[in-house]
Amino acid sequence: MKPSLLDLTLEELSKEVKPSFRAKQIYNWIYQHYVTDIEQMKNLPKALREELRERFVLHPLKIVQVQRSSDGSKKYLFVAEDGLTIESVLLPMKPEIRDKSGKVIKESKYTICVSSQVGCKIGCSFCLTAKSGFKRDLTPGEIVAQILLLKMDNEIAPNRRVNVVYMGMGEPLDNLENVTKAIKVLNESNGLAIGMRRQTISTSGLSHQIKRLGEMDLGVLLAISLHAVDDALREELMPINRAYNIESIIEAVREFPIDQRKRVMFEYLVLGGLNDDIKSAKKLVKLLHGIKAKVNLIYFNPYPGSPYTRPSEEKMEEFKSYLNSHGVICTIRESKGLDISAACGQLKEQHDSA
Ligand code: SAH
Ligand code: SF4
Repeated sequence: MKPSLLDLTLEELSKEVKPSFRAKQIYNWIYQHYVTDIEQMKNLPKALREELRERFVLHPLKIVQVQRSSDGSKKYLFVAEDGLTIESVLLPMKPEIRDKSGKVIKESKYTICVSSQVGCKIGCSFCLTAKSGFKRDLTPGEIVAQILLLKMDNEIAPNRRVNVVYMGMGEPLDNLENVTKAIKVLNESNGLAIGMRRQTISTSGLSHQIKRLGEMDLGVLLAISLHAVDDALREELMPINRAYNIESIIEAVREFPIDQRKRVMFEYLVLGGLNDDIKSAKKLVKLLHGIKAKVNLIYFNPYPGSPYTRPSEEKMEEFKSYLNSHGVICTIRESKGLDISAACGQLKEQHDSA
């Protein structure tokens, strides 16, 4: 596979092209003008365009399928150069507001959920991505392309900021190098200029990698997929817990540098009858003591053959109220895109088995 222009930070690109000021022009074409072909970079000399075409691809992914949900979220299936497929989801968080004359007075807000690997090695029992096994890490350019192509396809202006969450397929901290490179490319002020605090890495809890990420001090936000409050259940759901138990994760989180105004997000997937009781809520409050945390309760999103059930709304509300009344900020994540199976790995599964 040829490398992609999207793999490179501005500094790296400056070293690849001569004279180096051409790098800014190339960045400008890609991220501000949304060109789809190197040929469209009109102010570059023909020889340079030819050289670029020989050495690089522009977009390393192509959109193969789009599914729109009734709640406005859109799920994208991409194919990579080697034929493997991955998916991303565009989530409109707040709709645009127009005045009486129809003029937009408040722009809509978007979050883009991206994949970091094809498949995943972690093997969680509730996750569809785990079922397809692990194929390979995504390159930095393939991660950047998911955001760029979604913005392009939805005509979201280049200077409009979006939030990025690494919550699609794969374990981002198992592909730390490429993910952090993508984060830097996305952060470039001549590129999409997505602030570090607008990017959230979600992890199944690789404690040693959380430490490494913390040492890089990028300023990104962290989300921990906790899902259980005792090691026995967590091991059952997430075999990785044998290597990195709950205590080691909490310890790594305590050391993680985070903006004073921000919080570490703890995701808690609620499985009917397994971890939805008040005893678990109590333990969770204890566990998070002293951490600037925010808990996100997630409804289990069932798929054909999945071994778990969705919790009742009542249980979810009770759990949330307990946390809130004991000083832990907690929200329930609406299951966006339920009708298009927007939980990780589910569109791909439908496509590949069709
Ligand atoms: N590997 C990382 C990021 C990708 S998974 C991680 O595990 O954090 C993103 C989130 O989707 C995780 O919190 C994961 O637990 C959740 N998830 C996986 N399968 C799900 C399902 N069937 N229903 C609801 N959420 C699910
Ligand atoms: Fe991998 Fe995350 Fe799915 Fe677990 S939940 S198998 S870590 S993608």
